[in-house]
Amino acid sequence: MDCIFCKIIAGEIPVTKLYEDDDMIIIKDIDPKAKNHFLCIPKSHFKLLKDMTQKQSEQLSNCLKKIPQLEKELELVNGYRLIINQGDDAMQSVFHLHIHILSGQKMNWQQA
Ligand code: AMP
Ligand code: ZN
Repeated sequence: MDCIFCKIIAGEIPVTKLYEDDDMIIIKDIDPKAKNHFLCIPKSHFKLLKDMTQKQSEQLSNCLKKIPQLEKELELVNGYRLIINQGDDAMQSVFHLHIHILSGQKMNWQQA
């Protein structure tokens, strides 16, 4: 499958890796939108939450449980933002579901 995140998971593309286990990989985003911008990528390939199987939902749940445990490594202590872009209106550009993790600065919250 021609998926850049599957290639990253397979180790075929160099990335800055913060964490990895059987369920996920957490890397630095190549085009940061905040002081810190990480991506938590579940290892199983699917695009949309609506396509998710039970197993994939358990994997995603493990991602959500793991992220706050990496408080120091991801600089989450003062707060952070998680984003999952879904589909065209959200400008999803990689069709392998992933969680954006933004931290390390005060963030705006305004209408898009
Ligand atoms: P989205 O637009 O929600 O699908 O997010 C895709 C994200 O993947 C963007 O923030 C990109 O900057 C990021 N990205 C694309 N290719 C790479 C790469 N090779 N290494 C790290 N991040 C990447
Ligand atoms: Zn993929």
